[in-house]
Amino acid sequence: MRPHREGLDAIWEATERRGKVLAQHPELEQLERLVAEALLHCVQGKLSWSEVDEARAARDLFLAQNKIPFGYAEPRYRCSLCQDEGYINGKKCSCKKQEHLNRLFSGSGLPQLLKSETFDCYDLKWYSPIRKTPIGITEREAADEARKACMQFVASSAEGRKPRGLYIYGKAGLGKTLLLSAMCNALVQNGIPTLYMVFSDLIADIKKSFDQQDSAWSESALMAAAKKASVLMLDDLGAEQITEFVINRLFDIVNYRRNNELPLLVSSNLSIPEIGAWYGERVSSRLWEICSPIPMFGQDIRIQKTRQP
Ligand SMILES: [Zn+2]
Repeated sequence: MRPHREGLDAIWEATERRGKVLAQHPELEQLERLVAEALLHCVQGKLSWSEVDEARAARDLFLAQNKIPFGYAEPRYRCSLCQDEGYINGKKCSCKKQEHLNRLFSGSGLPQLLKSETFDCYDLKWYSPIRKTPIGITEREAADEARKACMQFVASSAEGRKPRGLYIYGKAGLGKTLLLSAMCNALVQNGIPTLYMVFSDLIADIKKSFDQQDSAWSESALMAAAKKASVLMLDDLGAEQITEFVINRLFDIVNYRRNNELPLLVSSNLSIPEIGAWYGERVSSRLWEICSPIPMFGQDIRIQKTRQP
């Protein structure tokens, strides 16, 4: 299998990095040469292994004294599963599938800002331990339940199961996007291709595709990717202008994922009954079927943060 270009990039980068370090430390170049020669002579039977070890020890001492990392000449792969080759035993690696998803949609993949979000960033201190919610528990308990449901989703997916999706809803600023981002990052790290998108961006991409000649970006290609992604996240559902066109696309995606038992994760300011009123019963009834509702309560965290000294 021909190495994926990025696999080579990591090797070229490592070669370049090694060259720079050796140029700065000519003694290290000499020590590396002694290690290489000792190895060669050892293979030829002219030297014993202990002499190779000696040469290595001298080099490692120099590295330690000069605070040069031991792996200074090793390639740094972005994907440790396939070492950036894109394939494992002839099969496409999950990183390739993820890359394809990210390239397909202009508004997809997590925005840079959200790439560092993890469950650790989700801080319960922003949710009141006193105020009761309409479901009888405190806001903090509800927030904790939401986090547990999301972590459980990731854990089940990582075990190869197809867990029931989640429909996370509540007012703006309660951490819904943070939960989706944390799940997205954790799923991708576990090698599960995940498509994150703001639903209105998908609609915009589809409309743009009408002027495109390239079939890779045709409406059917975009819709197929959204329907078939291992995990699909629709962030901020309900923020788009609702037209017959939008309702039909949403129904197609939800219905396909329901029929094929593919998980869907949604965040919205609308409750599922409100989705029913806006998008029609056929959309909301299928959402109910495949997603557990996760309500969130509290005060806008962004506003709370600005009030902090
Ligand atoms: Zn990979």
